[in-house]
Amino acid sequence: MIQTEAAVAEKAASEIIDVSVLVPVYNEEGNVPVLCERLLAVLDKQSWKFEIILVDDGSKDNTAQELRAAAAARPEIKVIRLRRNYGQTAAMMAGIDHARGETIIPIDADLQNDPEDIPALVAKLDEGYDVVSGWRKDRKDVRLKRTLVSRVANSLISRVSRVRLRDYGCTLKAYRRDVIKGVRLYGEMHRFIPIYATWQGARVTELPVRHHPRVHGQSKYGLERTLKVVLDLMVVMFLDRHFTKPIYVFGGFGAFSLMLSLISFVTMLYLKFFKAVSMIITPLPLLTAMLFLTGVTSILMGLLAEMIVRTYFESQDKSVYLIRETLNC
Ligand code: UDP
Ligand code: MG
Repeated sequence: MIQTEAAVAEKAASEIIDVSVLVPVYNEEGNVPVLCERLLAVLDKQSWKFEIILVDDGSKDNTAQELRAAAAARPEIKVIRLRRNYGQTAAMMAGIDHARGETIIPIDADLQNDPEDIPALVAKLDEGYDVVSGWRKDRKDVRLKRTLVSRVANSLISRVSRVRLRDYGCTLKAYRRDVIKGVRLYGEMHRFIPIYATWQGARVTELPVRHHPRVHGQSKYGLERTLKVVLDLMVVMFLDRHFTKPIYVFGGFGAFSLMLSLISFVTMLYLKFFKAVSMIITPLPLLTAMLFLTGVTSILMGLLAEMIVRTYFESQDKSVYLIRETLNC
């Protein structure tokens, strides 16, 4: 199902144009008209062939009507409406699948990002980068708490992923088509696109962008998003270091656990036969059994993960390497 939808989208996207601006939209009735106006004001001034793809992520307010009106006024404005609220990442994924632009630029619908920054991002990309990441240098979110949490999260992501950016969460970024077309996103992972891109050999840089307080509607997120981001980060880290060899992680942990189990077992025997301490009064038998089971289970899970990884690559004809260029082939 997902595959056929992506294939249909890919076909519709076969004619390439210069720039696709992608907007995930969820309950933003107050922002849509202004957003379209401001995007068009910027884009009409450029010489690019462009499109604006608005993805309605199952809005429950008047967003759909506003989007319809906007699309009726200008053929460059395209609207994709999802069946229900899938979340910002899925909405962006739908937009990416339909985008025909050589350059793809996601932006928030709430005008916290500034459409006026788009030409600068494109200019930076043209200097020879594959990803230009917007950095909200002077962030205007109401709660200080949030800015602080995001700062910690950003430095954590930067350290773990070894891709040095200062603001992963900023939606406004510019991507060259080939680095973003292949990515599949899950959960809150749109913020990790620059990381995936780097792994695939992309040149990534960042550029300060403006940030404004939200005027209409309200933020869809609270602090619980941070937990999701941290969990996603663990997945990303796993995928980065061990994706092709999960047995090294599970097996390593399993072997460690078995070793502890053995130590516990030997200690237990030693105490019994040399010190005449009964096995029952120490926690050692239980510890031995638990560590042994944990070890065996981990190794078995590692083998299972190896099978899944093979299915992943082989069933979808995915390659474990990506080619930048070929000559005379
Ligand atoms: N959004 C979406 N689906 C959701 C939640 C948010 O498409 O389930 C969109 C929302 O309309 C906005 C963008 O994602 O364009 C960022 O959301 P928000 O402004 O609430 O996030 P914040 O700026 O507070 O981090
Ligand atoms: Mg916002």
